[in-house]
Amino acid sequence: MTTTNNDHSTSSGRVALITGGNRGLGLAAARRLGRHGVTVVIAARDERRSHEAVVDLRRTGSYASAVPLDVDDPDSVARTAELVAREYGRLDILVNNAGILPEATTPEADRPLDLDLFHRTFRTNLFGAAAVTQAFLPMLRRSEAGRIVNVSSTMGSLSDQLDPASPYFGLVVPAYQASKAALNGLTIALAKHLADSAVKVNSVCPGWVQTDLGGPESRAAAPTTADDAAAVIVRAALLDQTGPSGSFFDLAGPIAW
Ligand code: NAP
Repeated sequence: MTTTNNDHSTSSGRVALITGGNRGLGLAAARRLGRHGVTVVIAARDERRSHEAVVDLRRTGSYASAVPLDVDDPDSVARTAELVAREYGRLDILVNNAGILPEATTPEADRPLDLDLFHRTFRTNLFGAAAVTQAFLPMLRRSEAGRIVNVSSTMGSLSDQLDPASPYFGLVVPAYQASKAALNGLTIALAKHLADSAVKVNSVCPGWVQTDLGGPESRAAAPTTADDAAAVIVRAALLDQTGPSGSFFDLAGPIAW
């Protein structure tokens, strides 16, 4: 297991792991958490980008390191958990942010019948989040304020998909929508499972954000910057003990499941 370098110095406070933290929303959330004094571990596949992210974070005074992680590879997930346990001995915040939307580059007519798309999308957006959560749950349980943030989407809201007034009503990306609905199901189940612990788990929607997720056209059309959108991730990550668990919200408030 390699990290960006051997400097695992931490702030005195919490440690957060952000999957997909080397760009887009994940990196924006890392910057915000760093400003709150949280030590951030960036976990993604592209090590060069992760290295650049860590350099950027450290330049602005954050405690940060990077670890290579493919959430779709059980060995990689296990190695990441071992590394964090060895180097930091704790994890307080897990942000399940890694996500893909391959339907953005697939013709609309082909989407509902493309099983490969479903498998690929679910392996990252659902099974990846579940695997990483399972690997880090023992450490999160030991934290005084363990927080799991599942970065979901209003497009995973069944209520929203059925609402003709929704701006997303006409959007048909079934693998992505189903994967985020399933991730929301995981949030509810985990919150119940962890109800007798200090760990809180929530789903958040960042809005439509200027990132690489949906391709260049989506990035150009999206109304929200990654920095603004990351605020909801940080809100869920830093909830105090009176905060909700098993909820789904954006910056404006609760979202119907
Ligand atoms: P992005 O810019 O495309 O970033 C995706 C991140 O996920 C990258 O850091 C990527 O890093 C990582 N990733 C992808 N597959 C991975 C894997 N198998 N293992 C580890 N990391 C992986 O997209 P984004 O918009 O920031 O998306 C972040 C999250 O926000 C996603 O879950 C997305 O569904 C959600 N979201 C986004 C929007 C939006 O409008 N952008 C709206 C609602 C929800 P590597 O390629 O280096 O691994």
